[in-house]
Amino acid sequence: MLLVPCPHCGPRNSADMSYQGEASSRPDPSSTTPTEWREYLYMKHNPAGWLRENWYCSSGCRRFFTVERHTVTSEFREPPLPGSKTPRPTGDGADPARGAP
Ligand SMILES: [Zn+2]
Repeated sequence: MLLVPCPHCGPRNSADMSYQGEASSRPDPSSTTPTEWREYLYMKHNPAGWLRENWYCSSGCRRFFTVERHTVTSEFREPPLPGSKTPRPTGDGADPARGAP
């Protein structure tokens, strides 16, 4: 059982959630090339380390939220607040630029 920390409901079984995939920033559609769109839509990094993910709390508050999960240990932590100037050390080779919104 994987306990996913919903920021509104608290830790809940992952069966109560819906995994929405890696969180990444959406490129500007007016200035993005087809190659960049393809990479945004289909090319995921899947690092062995911290990864920013989107989840949907389908059996609880029915809200979307973002957390960081270590893909090896399945440990969760809250992502930095938007606009935070302090980068979080990854320490495991993950690309810190990939997870920034
Ligand atoms: Zn919830």
